[in-house]
Amino acid sequence: MSAVSVEAITGTDGARQRRAIAKAITLLESTRGDHRAQADALLTELLPHTGKSFRLGISGVPGVGKSTFIEALGLHLIAQGHRVAVLAIDPSSTVSGGSILGDKTRMEQLSVHPQAYIRPSPSSGTLGGVAAKTRESLLVCEAAGYDIVIVETVGVGQSETAVANMTDMFVLLQLPNAGDDLQAIKKGVMELADLVVINKADLDPHAATRAQAQITSALRILGQHGHPDHAHHDQALWHAQVLQLSALKAQGLDKFWDAVAQFRQLQTANGKLESRRKHQALAWMWERIESGLRQAFRQDPAVQQLLPQLIHQVEQGLVAASTAARQLLGLHSNGEKNA
Ligand code: GDP
Repeated sequence: MSAVSVEAITGTDGARQRRAIAKAITLLESTRGDHRAQADALLTELLPHTGKSFRLGISGVPGVGKSTFIEALGLHLIAQGHRVAVLAIDPSSTVSGGSILGDKTRMEQLSVHPQAYIRPSPSSGTLGGVAAKTRESLLVCEAAGYDIVIVETVGVGQSETAVANMTDMFVLLQLPNAGDDLQAIKKGVMELADLVVINKADLDPHAATRAQAQITSALRILGQHGHPDHAHHDQALWHAQVLQLSALKAQGLDKFWDAVAQFRQLQTANGKLESRRKHQALAWMWERIESGLRQAFRQDPAVQQLLPQLIHQVEQGLVAASTAARQLLGLHSNGEKNA
């Protein structure tokens, strides 16, 4: 692959920029060792141009209206002079290689708009790997001057935590009957939300208002009893708001964006935006280190040779689990020293 031009990414020639972004992201998503080295060099060069966007995470179950909402919001923001990038993390792609977020009919107008860039989920790898590639793609989009970067995921699996951990604000979309069900509360996802949106309020305004009240009180209880580390905002200063809107009719988008702007201003003023990003970057580094170590351990020939036997002995109660672990780790670190 020929080198990606940083100047093309950060430049103002739209068509050239679009090609350079696509090429950069393809490079980041490659699993080849030599590509990885090029990708790391590229990221280092791009880094000084990053960090100026607002990173917005959006999640919700399939059918809640995420693509309808992102299309309406994206067009609304572009009309106000913003440039919008949309990235996705599809947890199903890590299992099947298929994609439930990536079909082409989604966001028809936004996807062809010159001020928008839409990239579907990386289509294979572990969730950690897919999330890492999406974080890196986010940096490329920032360097290209997209001032709003939306990262979308579906409300299944661990992908919501991954998205909340790479964005400045995490928004959860709910259906008007959500208050009756509250899956999100059970799963602990509600605690991640900085803002909850009841979509499809046009279908049943009464249900939407009831859901709004139910979720508002549930959030208040979570705020009092929840673990403070789970929330990414200071709960003394920001109570996660609950809004209702209709993505289909593009109603309520102004109110939504007002709430986002209010949150952004508060987080910026009290230093939380910066500390959240620093914390996220370090957590990301450690996650990648742990993932790399685990992979190196499992691929170590000495470990592979002894592992089946030790698994058997642990299962039979002949060797303590911790003893087996120490033995395998010892083998692995000796191998590293001799390498
Ligand atoms: P996603 O799977 O979360 O991306 O959901 P989609 O955006 O594909 O929407 C699923 C269906 O709900 C589509 O048929 C949309 O037209 C419809 N929909 C989305 N938002 C609204 C809304 O605000 N009101 C109504 N009545 N329908 C909506």
